[in-house]
Amino acid sequence: METQLQKGKIGIHTENILPIIKKWLYSEKEIFIRELISNAFDAIEKLKRIMLTEDIYQSDKTDFYIEIKFNKEKGTLHFIDNGIGMTKEEVEKYIAQIAFSGAKEFAQKYLKDEKSADIIGHFGLGFYSSFMVADKVEIQTRSYLPDAESVYWVSDGSDEYYIGKGERTDRGTEIILHLNEEARNEFLDKITLQNLIRKYCDFLSIPIKLEGLQMNYQKPLWLKKPNEVTKEEYISFYKYLYPFDDEPLFYIHLNTDYPFRLQGILYFPRIKHEMDLNQSYVKIFCKQIFVTDEAQEIIPKFLTALKGVLDLPELPLNVSRSYIQQDPEVKKIASHIVKKIADKLNEECKNNRQYYEKIWKDIAPFVKYGMMEDPKFYENAKDALLFETITEENLDKRTFKTIQEYLEYNKSKTDNKIYYATDLKTQGPAIRLLLKQGIEVIYLDKLIDAHFSSFLEMQEQSFQFVRVDAEISDHAIEQDSKIIDSDAKTIKDRVEDIFRKALNNTKIIVRAENLKTDEIPAMILLPETHRRVSELAILYGEKDKFTIPEHHTLLLNLKNPLIQKLGKPDIVISENQEVNPEKLELAKQIYKLARISQALVSPEEMQQYAKEIFEYLNKYLIK
Ligand code: ADP
Repeated sequence: METQLQKGKIGIHTENILPIIKKWLYSEKEIFIRELISNAFDAIEKLKRIMLTEDIYQSDKTDFYIEIKFNKEKGTLHFIDNGIGMTKEEVEKYIAQIAFSGAKEFAQKYLKDEKSADIIGHFGLGFYSSFMVADKVEIQTRSYLPDAESVYWVSDGSDEYYIGKGERTDRGTEIILHLNEEARNEFLDKITLQNLIRKYCDFLSIPIKLEGLQMNYQKPLWLKKPNEVTKEEYISFYKYLYPFDDEPLFYIHLNTDYPFRLQGILYFPRIKHEMDLNQSYVKIFCKQIFVTDEAQEIIPKFLTALKGVLDLPELPLNVSRSYIQQDPEVKKIASHIVKKIADKLNEECKNNRQYYEKIWKDIAPFVKYGMMEDPKFYENAKDALLFETITEENLDKRTFKTIQEYLEYNKSKTDNKIYYATDLKTQGPAIRLLLKQGIEVIYLDKLIDAHFSSFLEMQEQSFQFVRVDAEISDHAIEQDSKIIDSDAKTIKDRVEDIFRKALNNTKIIVRAENLKTDEIPAMILLPETHRRVSELAILYGEKDKFTIPEHHTLLLNLKNPLIQKLGKPDIVISENQEVNPEKLELAKQIYKLARISQALVSPEEMQQYAKEIFEYLNKYLIK
């Protein structure tokens, strides 16, 4: 047959480009399957469009399909479509010239790039990617035009080809790859082909057959109009994509035409591990064809916890990964997605508050992380930021408030301070003291919160986070009692005096007040700055290094019976009488217990304090 063929030269100036491409793309050889199937798909789509407009073809009721066949003995792999086909001129023009010059340009541009191994998918190499795996490629094609002749083309991957009369009787194209030894072993196997078809073309809306069976799922749900998709469809699509996952928390259907085309469905999964944000789950498609699930370069890092699909028909995929993040189009796409997610959060928070509160814990790490990462996201989504709030004596019961809601509710009592707790056990007394004043406490128990609260203060500068045991709110002190109780002043003086003498340490500020509760005898207050430092220390695993700074406050509660007993006057014998030594002893133990109850002791101090308290108890038992 080849004797009747005409000889032609592939239209490039640089020779030996095919070997370069072959070697270069070695690691992603399998993409030739994607390229050839997408050509077949395009050929069918083109014909469909023609049939819509041209009367003569409207009676053609063909079922369109793409078929893949293989022959182990001959080492061939066939890609067959019943699409538009090509005339001889078209083969010469498209296959021999244009496509290849695209490849050349591509190769020249990026060959120097050190990270060339780092290339994502769609190269515009198209048809020529078949030479990565084949020693010889044949085309049998016949154009859809009624009087078209069939065409045969063959090339061995050098810059020469032969073209002549073909054998195909039906409209469409068959591409025949004569695979090289290595590729035969790798690809000529039903399971491998099936997996590759599913990987790249599962959502292509035309059936792809292998050994007569349809291999692809077909339905690209993201291409439907959002108002035509039911909740059930969204959920079952998710389950199809991620069969082992729980139901997603919610989803966003993206559908944009301008200023760039973007379609997709993003789902918020239940995040199982906090900070599990490095993995990427979003699948990137280009016109229904899978490109990559390494979406980190395309979507902002904090969104990689999301799942779902993004179809980016105009994405410049023929660039290296290190380059793609810098691409202005990609940046636009990324910020569009971020905006949409912020909108969705606001919408859920406003219109679906109950559900939003229910899922808040699941999405909070991702929202907070995202806000610190991207100030724009913070600006757009800050109204949808909730805080778990303790409002009742039952500390396990929580409500959810935005910062505005918290400030609004507690306004008269807190002067734009936001009281927070990080540990219910050690901070329990301090929390209750605030609750008694009708002041709510925000519960921040996650590692990220230590950073996040500082971040919020810096952003807003109109409020301040104060840990419940960092300082005492004026509202916790009974103002009136100071005046009414005529002896109050002296009790206060006496108590403070006893403790100052007992501790004998000028770095510790002793302060006695009438708190609005009688439960707590004594409490340690630490400067807020120290809180932050020690929370970060815990975060970095240096928990034991931080106990208590030298400078701190011992707050004594004059309402508590024990402190009241201490403050009762001793029988005065002389003017300069020393304080009763038993009271000094007791005061020392109260200070130790206050520190122990707030876990403000090092392991060594803990041992020491326990020993001393036992000794103290023992002494009084003998008496
Ligand atoms: P691209 O698809 O990026 O244009 P290709 O090298 O893959 O580059 O293909 C070049 C051209 O060859 C296509 O644009 C199309 O016109 C034609 N072509 C390739 N495969 C087919 C096919 N199966 N049926 C019809 N035309 C095809």
